[in-house]
Amino acid sequence: MKFIGAHVSASGGVENAPVNAQNIGAKAFALFTKNQRQWKSAPLTKESIKKFKDHCAQYEFAPHQILPHDSYLINLGHPEKEGLEKSRDAFLDELQRCEQLGLDRLNFHPGSHLGLIDEETCLKNIADSINWALNQTKGVTAVIENTAGQGTNMGYKFEHLAYIIDHVEDKSRVGVCIDTCHAFTSGYNLLSEEGFKESFKQFDEIVGFSYLKGMHLNDSKKDLGTRVDRHESLKSVGFIGMVPFELIVNDPRFDNIPLILETPNEEAWPDEIKLLYSLIA
Ligand SMILES: [Zn+2]
Ligand SMILES: [Zn+2]
Repeated sequence: MKFIGAHVSASGGVENAPVNAQNIGAKAFALFTKNQRQWKSAPLTKESIKKFKDHCAQYEFAPHQILPHDSYLINLGHPEKEGLEKSRDAFLDELQRCEQLGLDRLNFHPGSHLGLIDEETCLKNIADSINWALNQTKGVTAVIENTAGQGTNMGYKFEHLAYIIDHVEDKSRVGVCIDTCHAFTSGYNLLSEEGFKESFKQFDEIVGFSYLKGMHLNDSKKDLGTRVDRHESLKSVGFIGMVPFELIVNDPRFDNIPLILETPNEEAWPDEIKLLYSLIA
């Protein structure tokens, strides 16, 4: 089963996200459970939690069709004590919100070394942060997203994801999300069937499909290997084109996980979702 959707708005309360997803014909959705640009948000209210669960039941969104995304401010690989502690506390709060909502995974960008520590130390910080937070929560898997490698962001190679997983104690609660735009601009050539197969062969050997807990389906405004993170809509002027998306929706290795559009034109989401479903042979 393919669960295709988009990162929908939770404005006005998390309970609105499943409604917004239903309205665009989505079978999966992503959401922020708090304001993604602020450190602190009010706790989820009992009423909001109940409505969220009711709406998910009503529109048939099970936890494996939902991929919450954490705040952009969090840096679990932060080189400095204060920044690292602040990030860890915020990440724990994000995991606890997922627990309260009955969700089973939380998607996040691994972290950045900010030019102050080496890459391996940063990756080690990230794994330590995950261990620290998982020890205080239950049932939610930490889903590390690959990045474009913009600035000092880690996670732009499958080896980075594998290194973090290697250093996480509870392997049953760590996973990855692969963003097609990030993979492409970080240097994985997804343009042809051959390039796609080779990239995901490497992914399987280095990380392993058993860790794949979600996908972000985005075209790219920037070319292969530019290490710039700029999403583009499907079937528009992007550099990637439709080849990898057609392969993904027809490949059983991408079954039963949230496949999430983070493309820039929200108005196009209903058509993009329809298009992706129409490509299933
Ligand atoms: Zn993404
Ligand atoms: Zn991105």
